[in-house]
Amino acid sequence: MNARILIVEDEEPLTMLLRYNLEAEGYEVETSARGDEADTRLKESTPDLVVLDWMLPGLSGIELCRRLRARPETRQLPVIMLTARGEESEKVRGLATGADDYIVKPFSVPELLARVRTAGEGACTAAPRQS
Ligand code: CA
Repeated sequence: MNARILIVEDEEPLTMLLRYNLEAEGYEVETSARGDEADTRLKESTPDLVVLDWMLPGLSGIELCRRLRARPETRQLPVIMLTARGEESEKVRGLATGADDYIVKPFSVPELLARVRTAGEGACTAAPRQS
């Protein structure tokens, strides 16, 4: 079965770009444009990885990440946070809330695909993850 990725991003052109490229790599892609909607959806079903934008309507990416880490079902779920350039302190905070990785916009698609691959592999290893 193909790995399922949920993209939570409110910039539609970026969502479309990511969906296109991830589907081309064989991933099954779902999208959500709102943090609160993604939160609801993640309580119903858990994907294999989440690509999560920092600034979202409804609920911020950082708050959503914090909620995911607080629930046993999603504590280990790989999360790649998207942040805007130059938000150094925010990047640190992003990792502090439990994101596995972050990527700074604007980023290249191959870079994002490489991060997704790495994060997905990390989730499948037998070794316990650092938290
Ligand atoms: Ca955004």
